[in-house]
Amino acid sequence: MQKLTTHYHSLLRLPLTWSVDAVDFSADSKRIEIHARFIGGAVVCPECGLAGKVYDRVPEQRWRHLDTMQYETIIIARIPRCQCIKCGVKTLAVPWAERHSRFTLMFEGFAVDLLQHCSNTNAAADMLELGWHATDEIMNRAVKRGLSRRAPEEICNIGIDEKSFRKGHKYITTLNDINGSRVLDVVESRTLEATETLLQTLTESQRESVKSVSLDMWQAFATAVKKCLPKADIVHDRFHISKYLNDAVDKVRRHESAQLYKIGDKTLVGSRFCWLRNLENMKDTQRAKFELLMEGELKTGVA
Ligand SMILES: [Zn+2]
Repeated sequence: MQKLTTHYHSLLRLPLTWSVDAVDFSADSKRIEIHARFIGGAVVCPECGLAGKVYDRVPEQRWRHLDTMQYETIIIARIPRCQCIKCGVKTLAVPWAERHSRFTLMFEGFAVDLLQHCSNTNAAADMLELGWHATDEIMNRAVKRGLSRRAPEEICNIGIDEKSFRKGHKYITTLNDINGSRVLDVVESRTLEATETLLQTLTESQRESVKSVSLDMWQAFATAVKKCLPKADIVHDRFHISKYLNDAVDKVRRHESAQLYKIGDKTLVGSRFCWLRNLENMKDTQRAKFELLMEGELKTGVA
């Protein structure tokens, strides 16, 4: 059978320049600690890429990794520093983590997946048994990594959308790449200035490449698009249009119903969903009721 240290070396997929010296298990602290050591080999300067030699090793550091079974798992190591003839002494990167992170890349990847499935940072932080700030840092690093990989490619169809939070008292506006199903950028509030700022995050050639912008009917969005993307078509999606139409029909119905009620006519009482439901989704009895209402020459029927 493989030695435990060799086994962990393979599990961590460490290169041959690193060895696993010990794997400590503590039942009391419910933790597994993996002691990794840089055993040498060629090193290159992290700044200029020139070959250098190992100068020394920084004091021991700890990285939280994915759990081993139900045990929290920590990698412990001293990172080597490289002596470069051009740049001086520089700390090398470790294969399992990003610089200045206390978590391995695999742990961060898992945390990001969890964040995407949780409604807020607190919920993910609780499941990871991490503090809010540590979880937020992981999210910020992931965003930074994603943005550094982003190329300024052509984007044909974009969407501008608002989201409210704090019980509808505050808004953010998002810029979305519709074909790529991704959020490109976010700004606070939904004013004209904010929307212009958002559209200017696209490069000039990207702005040229935009063919359509999908919006709700918020005026500031349309004005900003006409100003920043004069060649693009403005599109209102079916969801937004049907919402506005339904609201308008309902407004007419409420007004008319109140007027009829005053003269003792209860024709429109309890008819709200007759007007809002899709004709194809109606049962026979609902359809009969709707058709009867439509024969009555009501203002709601005209609407
Ligand atoms: Zn260098």
